[in-house]
Amino acid sequence: MQFRSTRSHEAPVSFKEAALRCLPLGGGLYVPASVMDMRQVFLHMDSETSYPELVSIITPLLLQGELNPFSASRVAESAFVFEPELTQLDERFSLLNLYNGPTGVFKDFGVVFLAAVLEELLKSSGRSMVLSAARGDTGASIAAAFRNRPGVTTVILYPSGPIRALDPATFVPNGGNIIPIQVRGTFDDCQRLVAETITDRPFAERYGVTSANAINVGRLIPQAFYYLYAFTKIKKSLIGDLYFSVPSGNFGNLIAGLYAWKFGMPVNGFFAAMNANNAFGDFIKGKVFAPRPLISTKSPALDVTEPSNYERLASFYDEAPAVMRNMVYPASVSDAATLDAMGRAYKKYGVFLNPHSAVAFAAAEELAPRLDPSGHTVILATGHPARETSIVREATGQAIKVPYNLTLLHNQCDPIALIDPHLDALEGAIASCF
Ligand SMILES: *Cc1c(COP(=O)(O)O)cnc(C)c1O
Repeated sequence: MQFRSTRSHEAPVSFKEAALRCLPLGGGLYVPASVMDMRQVFLHMDSETSYPELVSIITPLLLQGELNPFSASRVAESAFVFEPELTQLDERFSLLNLYNGPTGVFKDFGVVFLAAVLEELLKSSGRSMVLSAARGDTGASIAAAFRNRPGVTTVILYPSGPIRALDPATFVPNGGNIIPIQVRGTFDDCQRLVAETITDRPFAERYGVTSANAINVGRLIPQAFYYLYAFTKIKKSLIGDLYFSVPSGNFGNLIAGLYAWKFGMPVNGFFAAMNANNAFGDFIKGKVFAPRPLISTKSPALDVTEPSNYERLASFYDEAPAVMRNMVYPASVSDAATLDAMGRAYKKYGVFLNPHSAVAFAAAEELAPRLDPSGHTVILATGHPARETSIVREATGQAIKVPYNLTLLHNQCDPIALIDPHLDALEGAIASCF
């Protein structure tokens, strides 16, 4: 599979180049240049196929000429020591639990694959430096995925505020490969610095700079795998239409579902489940997208006004607008409706949802009956409910147990450098580590 820019007409590049460069030289984001139909492959998989098996079969097909089946198995096995879990709630709904990774959010799936595949691709040729902006527990997710992967130095940029869930033994001065740097500024400053460093060609080429943020296709493509996995688990019991309900902020997760569809997964539609920050719904309905001011909600990972994947989603609509109108359905769920949905999911099915997953649950309850009453909707549970124990208690009246890996997320630590939000300061801090 080759990748092209959403904007310029540069020649398409390989997966390795796209993953190692992260951003096209002429601007825009990388998207697949052409997509391979793998229907024949996963129609033969069944509910016995494990996640690492599925990944080691699909990956060498996608990365033909770049990763052979043996390397792909190594990637799948070193990445996926945790798996998605599909639970059928009733004839209408299933939950796809994506929160069994180290930090309890679905982002672990993309990050850990990127880490494992970069290690494998770099075995024959050189080193790379992965530079990422971190908010919430993204830094912990990236550090967990990249620790002990020789050849990949991992720089994590934090905005002002506490830094949590890193192990100082993994830092570069202590013999590891992680460099946490705090920026006197905001998360947006950190994101800007990542983009500026990647486009500072002499520096980027000297260190082999790329990013593990969601702008990297190497993190996005593997998110298609859990959609295919859910399909292989559920396909035998399907009678009517199949939908996926996806809590959507920057829309990476939903776009990965669209890639799964392009890879040949039979699916009738996706629900773009948003909270009150729903301006992007206008775009999906065919209007011009105009960002609105940010509203803080109980599902903060969905509090996004300008999705970073906008250009990627727009490229689907440019190609086939009419098809897309019947493929992605927006829904907007209020905080009150989110809490109600958490309570209902517990009462009806005995499951705990975190607020983000509850937004997707409420969207499915609203949209699915209108589209096909005998259809089935897979609801993506993107975060562990134990990450938000007090909201869960408020909504369900229940106290839930926090797994050990999630208790570690609270430990604070110090960065190895504190810098002003300027490219020079960042590059100086990085250089002084070598
Ligand atoms: C990041 C995140 C989302 C949003 O995913 P996008 O790919 O940005 O749309 C949803 N739920 C949780 C728990 C998240 O952490």
